[in-house]
Amino acid sequence: MGEPDETGRFGEFGGRFVPETLIPALQELDRSFRSAWADPVFRDELDTLLADYAGRPSPLTECHRLSAELGCRVLLKREDLNHTGSHKINNVLGQALLARRMGKTRLVAETGAGQHGVATATAAALLGMECLVYMGEVDMGRQELNVFRMRLLGAEVTPAVSGSRTLKDAVNEAMRDWVATVEDTHYCLGSVMGPHPYPWMVREFHRVIGSEASAQCRALLDGGLPDVVTACVGGGSNAAGIFSGFAEEPDVELVGVEPAGGAAVGHGVPGIVHGMKSYLMQDEFGQVSEAHSISAGLDYPGVGPEHSHLASLGRARYEQVTDEEVVDAFVLLSRTEGIIPALEPAHALAWVSRARSELEGRTVLVNMSGRGDKDVGQMMDVLRDRL
Ligand SMILES: *Cc1c(COP(=O)(O)O)cnc(C)c1O
Repeated sequence: MGEPDETGRFGEFGGRFVPETLIPALQELDRSFRSAWADPVFRDELDTLLADYAGRPSPLTECHRLSAELGCRVLLKREDLNHTGSHKINNVLGQALLARRMGKTRLVAETGAGQHGVATATAAALLGMECLVYMGEVDMGRQELNVFRMRLLGAEVTPAVSGSRTLKDAVNEAMRDWVATVEDTHYCLGSVMGPHPYPWMVREFHRVIGSEASAQCRALLDGGLPDVVTACVGGGSNAAGIFSGFAEEPDVELVGVEPAGGAAVGHGVPGIVHGMKSYLMQDEFGQVSEAHSISAGLDYPGVGPEHSHLASLGRARYEQVTDEEVVDAFVLLSRTEGIIPALEPAHALAWVSRARSELEGRTVLVNMSGRGDKDVGQMMDVLRDRL
């Protein structure tokens, strides 16, 4: 997975569809990221934080009992064991360090379910930066615990009160804030989406997942690689991170898994939202529609532009799973391996479980993007009659 072209596009997707006033800020960010990413001092500083603060490298776990149950060899990349419980820490540490290097003292971020807001608040606390998180008013009511976590970490949480008062409105508010405060503020965007350079930069900050995983697979598989690499797709950052370690290997199949109720690649059409051109869920009037799934972390109506590109090239394929399949996978991994997954990566597991006959005898690497602690309250209700 290479760089986008000079206009920030992956094929026909991506780009920079923003008001004139934001262009200089995006150009400055692009220049600063390029210089930081090429600077061994910056890379060292980030690698040290990833190791000593976030707990990297994350292990690769072979699932013996699950493999016996499904008839294929299942390996998990354990992003759930990172500090704060998911892959998101890779991106926020990278962006917070970059912001500091650019002389910024304040971070703004958007959050839907609250996980990216908590991760950004964590990085801001670590580096002594001010932090303001925009969160849809509706989401704030649904995710009280994460609102409290952010405040505990010293961040301010501001409700987005426009539109549907959910994630897509929080993104708009964060961008509006950034336009007015760019002098001292960095917009810490949470996935491989938005205007260039974000989709590329965020993927580069998550590349560590794929680099580690490919070396760990070679060590485990006598120099070989898995047949299939799969990850859940909301905006697509954890998937882009793990895919980046395998995309140049033509024999490795890449499978992104979306919720059936938020399948931007599966059911969307190309459109423009949040500064990028990509596949999007739209209604009959071309309005961006709401995504709905059991997992709040995957409720994004769009998808990162590089995934749209990989889909149009046929390099990756995108499958959809239902909430019911996700619940079964959540229980299955808990019972066979003693690992309670977050509902997001349970989507990837649900696809593996459904595709077990296609996968028979093959090796599948699943990106375990996060742990299930945050979801057990919700699942206690869902599983009330079953357990
Ligand atoms: C936020 C989140 C996701 C969805 O984000 P992507 O950008 O699609 O990776 C997936 N898994 C977990 C555990 C998350 O917290």
